[in-house]
Amino acid sequence: MTTNGSTEQETWTVDDTRDLYMIDRWGGGYFDVSADGKMTVAPLQGRGRKVVISEVLEQAKQEEGLTTPLVIRFQDILHHRVRTLNEAFIKAIAENKYRGAYRGVFPIKVNQLREVVDEILEAGRPFHYGIEVGSKAEMFAGLAVHSDNESLIVCNGYKDDTFIRTALIGRKLGKKVILIAEKLSEVRAIVRIAKEMGVDPEIGVRVRLVTKGAGKWAESSGEKAKFGLSTSEILEAGEILRQAGMPQAFKLVHFHVGSQVPDILIIKRAVREAARYYAKLRRLGHPIEYIDVGGGLAIDYDGSRTPTDASMNYSVEEYARDIVSNIADVCEEERVPHPNIVSESGRAIVAQHCVLVVEAFGAIENTAQPALPLAAPSHKLIANLHEISEKLNDTNLLESWHDLLEVREEAQKTFELGFLELDVKAAIETTFWQVAQRIRELSKSHDPAELPDELAALDAKFGTQQICNFSVFQSLLDHWAFGALFPVVPLHRLEEKPSVLSTLVDITCDSDGKVGKFIDRNEASRDMLPLHSRDGKPYHIGVFLTGAYQDIMGDIHNLFGRVNEVHVFLDEDEDCGYYLEETIEGNSIADVLRLTQYHTHDLAQRVKTQVDAAIKQDRLKPTEGMRLLNEFERGLKDQTYLKW
Ligand SMILES: *Cc1c(COP(=O)(O)O)cnc(C)c1O
Repeated sequence: MTTNGSTEQETWTVDDTRDLYMIDRWGGGYFDVSADGKMTVAPLQGRGRKVVISEVLEQAKQEEGLTTPLVIRFQDILHHRVRTLNEAFIKAIAENKYRGAYRGVFPIKVNQLREVVDEILEAGRPFHYGIEVGSKAEMFAGLAVHSDNESLIVCNGYKDDTFIRTALIGRKLGKKVILIAEKLSEVRAIVRIAKEMGVDPEIGVRVRLVTKGAGKWAESSGEKAKFGLSTSEILEAGEILRQAGMPQAFKLVHFHVGSQVPDILIIKRAVREAARYYAKLRRLGHPIEYIDVGGGLAIDYDGSRTPTDASMNYSVEEYARDIVSNIADVCEEERVPHPNIVSESGRAIVAQHCVLVVEAFGAIENTAQPALPLAAPSHKLIANLHEISEKLNDTNLLESWHDLLEVREEAQKTFELGFLELDVKAAIETTFWQVAQRIRELSKSHDPAELPDELAALDAKFGTQQICNFSVFQSLLDHWAFGALFPVVPLHRLEEKPSVLSTLVDITCDSDGKVGKFIDRNEASRDMLPLHSRDGKPYHIGVFLTGAYQDIMGDIHNLFGRVNEVHVFLDEDEDCGYYLEETIEGNSIADVLRLTQYHTHDLAQRVKTQVDAAIKQDRLKPTEGMRLLNEFERGLKDQTYLKW
């Protein structure tokens, strides 16, 4: 796509940008474009200031010396998300005259960063919002940072004695820690350890529902799931507790149908199924107080509001209403008390709070300049290309394209035989792309549905690969792993019409290190995104909604480490309306090398030995040798990404 002269540019407005990148669809009231073409964020939606994201970037650079790739966290978004979820349940509870309370928990596996968890717990304090842990390490962190004894700590995942003991230390401290049994042997272990420690445990069971999730995480649920107890095992768990003299320990029924549940119908079915378990167990005399509906509350990554992988067909409010009303229905039918409701939404709390900013610093492109005259027909093959160009018209596009390919093929053969000099080869290649570009322009006036595939695919050949200073494996793992889509939008120049269809490639030496799928209006994805031509100036691109899972799952492929971070807080006392509360520097080269057993001191020692030898052989003067050694040691402190 190239700009067709200035008239189109003059009529391009930020509304067109909003439309093109679908910002009003996925932005969720948080993200927008300013009148002067910059991406903005309103962390409290309509209730607070708008922050220009590129200004945060500039401030991080000027004041903290932090460069891209950079993760910007908007801590107020975390607050807003926690409030939104809790208020949705409170409202649904009031509307349904529901007699239980909502006691949500944040599953820390979705983003364990201490500052994130602290912020969420603080925002959740008025609602007694707690945390969920799923491993021993998470248990240790969770126990320490949790401080509101009215809120829950829910412990999922397989457990050993240390895990269970640590949870029970929480009980000794007066916390509501609920151990969810994934297997029957865990129930026995909890009973044994609780007796040893002299403490009353609180236990839940994860039921293996028949209702299955959908999409990528469908296998988290259903009869063949890796987790949970069958009906007979649940009954046996109750029996084990009774025989141990701890019948009152049975407190909770839990299920989790998987992450990013796109369709509200799945949620409703699963909730009704689990509510039956609760009611029947209650009727058997088990004193269960909570139903835990797990995670799965989705994020509308592509803004399509459809029950597809990157989207969802419901709102947070509808989610809360459907959970509350369906549990209430089942309880009325079964004449059992309304339980308290727990949910473990992770993605829906943290996805929006992070923006990953990368800088495009180069481009790999095939774009020819169609406006320039073709190279002089100094060679027969160039003359052939001229001929194709002269005959080209609306009715012979496909034929011309085939002729073009034939000339290129012949040029290649001639080159391989040694009969083509490099300057002629260069002129042929340039002319080839110029004529191809004309074919592409002409094919745009045809109905896309009737355009032959080969011509429709021409766009892809002209795509530009924007080279960006980051690693997909560190910062966008889910895009590589299963094609998860994240909205991608330049942070500036949005008042200009973007002119180059692009993909993003990262700086790892891995051909998978790229972003080649983007959100699109018509439910599916697109392979290229219109971006601006860089023109040699810094060009910053934001990848949005990356706050869930990406932060922690990234790896150090090619030894690219964690990236720089800044945490932004709104503050009315500041002129710009916000301040950078904290910065966390990305990994240094020494940091990532240490993870693979290369220790700074040893590395320097080994290089020194080589420098000494070079000095002995008169290859280096001693002062130069020491200078080079110093440079090596200094370089180890640099970050792993490129720096200019
Ligand atoms: C991963 C997980 C969650 C979080 O799921 P989201 O889809 O991010 O809300 C909640 N509960 C359990 C048991 C999980 O494994």
